[in-house]
This record gives sequence, C-alpha cells and structure tokens, in this order.
Amino acid sequence: MNKTKKAKQLIACQQCDALYDTPMLKQGQSAKCTRCGSMLTERKVDSIERSFFWSLAGIILSVPAILLPIMGVTLVGQYHHASLLDCILALIDRGFIMIATLVFLFTLAIPVVRLLGAFYITYSFKFNRLKPSLLYFFRAHHYLDNWAMLNVFMLGIVVSMYKLLDDTELSVNMGLLAFILWLICSTMASSALDQDYIWQELENEFVD
Ligand SMILES: [Zn+2]
Repeated sequence: MNKTKKAKQLIACQQCDALYDTPMLKQGQSAKCTRCGSMLTERKVDSIERSFFWSLAGIILSVPAILLPIMGVTLVGQYHHASLLDCILALIDRGFIMIATLVFLFTLAIPVVRLLGAFYITYSFKFNRLKPSLLYFFRAHHYLDNWAMLNVFMLGIVVSMYKLLDDTELSVNMGLLAFILWLICSTMASSALDQDYIWQELENEFVD
C-alpha cells in the first residue's frame, strides 16, 4: 500500500455537486453531505462476505432457472413444459431471431456473467487474490449494472410471445420459482457489493 504518496481523492455529492475529501469510513458508517444532507457514501457491513454467498447461490440457482420448465402449456389437449431455454429455441424456430437474441442476452447471458463477475471479484477479495486486471474487470462489471433489471422485462416478453405464438393455456411451473429466487440472489449479490470500497481498495493497490 502506498497511500502516503497518493493525492487526496475527492468525492462529489450526487445531488448538489459539493466536493469533499473521500472520508475513511468503518463498516456500517455512512457520510452525508453537509450542504444538502443526502448520502455521500457508505461502507456496507460484511459486503464481500454477503455478496460472495449471494452470488454463489445465484450461480447455482441459474441452472434450474434456465433449464426447469417455466410454463406448462396445453396444446391441443396435450400438456407439455417449456423452460426458458425451450422458449428461446421456440422463438428461433419461428424465425424471431432478433427477439431470441435479446431474450438470450438479457435473461440469460448478462445475468449469468454478472453473477460470475460478482463471484470472481468477491472471491478475489475474500481470499486475497487481488490482481491489477481486477480493475478492468470491475469496470466492465460495473458497466453491466446498467442492464441489470432488464431480465424481468425480457421474461415478460418471452412469456407473452410464447402465449401469442401458441395461443395456449399457461400455468406457472417450478422453473419460474427458481427464476424468481435466482433474481433475488442476483439483486442481493449486487446490492451487498460495496462498490466504493472495492474501487478504493483496487485503486490503493494498483493505481499510482
Ligand atoms: Zn449535497
């Protein structure tokens, strides 16, 4: 650590743009803007630990969420199941390549990559395996945050598309439960992740 020769880092209030020296906070502490009173930054309690286990649970749950049937479909008297993967394949089958790609990206690929990313980052912190490349990695992970909640929206699209395609009776299945739990784990993993803390630690370690 070479904190002494580093220039002081500044932090700006997101509401009123007032500038402050970045405060050194302990776990559970937060800093408020003295001008407008809004939250400047906070240090979450057990951030790495909590995010590590939520992301691990999320990674495990992604398997049933993707593969278990989300919907039961009754087609001409016959009942069959459709998982998220089946829905995507059905969309490709009917020529809705664009929608299939979007659904694949936002309900499947990005959430899985985000969870793996959160897991890798918290794993590196938990077991002291910090590398300079984590700085770039975390930047990319941070960028994916913008797309986090699109999966709920896309799941809505996939269900309604499937219903439109087949005009069938739908029932809810185990896969949907797994999907919802998966979503909760992803949300908890990223809300537990203390971004300010991770940036600070990585910068202290690797940025001159
Ligand atoms: Zn302010």
